[in-house]
Amino acid sequence: MEKIVSLAKRRGFIYPGSEIYGGLKGFWDYGPLGVELKNNIKRIWWEDMVYARDDVVGVDGAIIMNPQVWEASGHTESFTDPLVECKVCNKRIRADHKNEIKKHEKSHDKKVEWTEPKTFNLLTEVYLGTTEPKQKAYLRGEITQSVFVNFKNIVDSTSRKIPFGIAQIGKAFRNEITPGNLTYRSREFEQMELEYFIKPDEKEAEKVFKYWKKQRMDWYILYGMSKEKLRFREHASDERAHYAKFAEDIEYKAPFGWSEFEGIHHRGDWDLGRHKLKYKGPDSGEEYTPWVIETSGGVDRTALFFLIDAYHQDKDRVILKLHPELAPYKVAVFPLLANKPQLVNKARIIYDALKTQFHTSWDDRGNIGKRYFAQDEIGTPWCVTVDFDTLKDDTVTIRDRNSTKQIRVSIVKIVDWIEKKLNV
Ligand code: ATP
Repeated sequence: MEKIVSLAKRRGFIYPGSEIYGGLKGFWDYGPLGVELKNNIKRIWWEDMVYARDDVVGVDGAIIMNPQVWEASGHTESFTDPLVECKVCNKRIRADHKNEIKKHEKSHDKKVEWTEPKTFNLLTEVYLGTTEPKQKAYLRGEITQSVFVNFKNIVDSTSRKIPFGIAQIGKAFRNEITPGNLTYRSREFEQMELEYFIKPDEKEAEKVFKYWKKQRMDWYILYGMSKEKLRFREHASDERAHYAKFAEDIEYKAPFGWSEFEGIHHRGDWDLGRHKLKYKGPDSGEEYTPWVIETSGGVDRTALFFLIDAYHQDKDRVILKLHPELAPYKVAVFPLLANKPQLVNKARIIYDALKTQFHTSWDDRGNIGKRYFAQDEIGTPWCVTVDFDTLKDDTVTIRDRNSTKQIRVSIVKIVDWIEKKLNV
């Protein structure tokens, strides 16, 4: 884990939030490469969950909502249980769930210490207005509620028929008592969620739940997460959130133990019921409260686990084997020698052309070996080198990050070559 923390800082993926003032526990800033990784995760999630489907639309709700939303959703009351937190893995357990506490202690092979029981509310309070008394509101504790409160607006404005889904990506805030493990448990984080609305029917719910479970697990594997480091874990009845009828987590085998980074939840009619929202079937006219199957992933935890999973070391060479779709830079361009204007000019022309298509890096520092090392460490899948042969025959060397193999490609074919590789 220290290697990831160090790489994240050194190469500009993740920095401690407001570091020059000593930081602020549970807050992180993403550097130039981190923001690219995170944006890539969000882009491919949106493409696959919204654009590729006919049954999902998107929404982008406000972070601060009328506080009545949180009364209705049950968050103001049910996040105030007395909880103890495992000091090894930060898992929180209701202080009165003695069996679960014992079971959890057995899951670690070292002595487990617990924090004192604390009644606390995860919602972060904010105060609005300039004159007293200010209006108390909350930063959203989960992004989900803006989907539910807009359910009627979306049905009315898009004529969507059940079954259909609403997707959203956005920031959420929780007053975590023990943030830790880099960005894993933060107080400000981003979620990517789908709320999929169905008829209230157990069989249908079971089918849709199974479907989304498989879709989401396959998605992580498709983008390169190691299959053997992923598993599902079903929630026991006493650990389920107040809204969930049924819940399973997708967990990754992190250096700090198996850890959740996405939940698939059967929320039933809890939320729409509490907001008193119904759906009227356009054909039958039948009115009912739909049920919801939710897939709720964390962008930051996903980025962290993609980073951890991609990290490989070969003697003193670090290679970040990120899927090309996730890599901050798709390609880097180098002139073989920085002091030969002919090479530099030719390489600049290629760089300028490639950067209109892909996020492209330029490097003319040090020798070629050092440049390969530097690009491997940040996960750039391909490096293009302009050498003396390029001046004669308009071909370049493309070097592959994972295999280190090099091939000659004609300059006019570089874009096609990369595009083909990206579409595999
Ligand atoms: P945990 O048990 O670890 O606190 P949770 O079960 O409360 O997580 P959910 O409410 O299901 O989490 O939220 C869905 C997703 O949002 C999580 O799987 C995770 O990826 C992300 N998430 C939740 N809390 C945090 C946090 N404090 N920091 C970073 N990501 C988070």
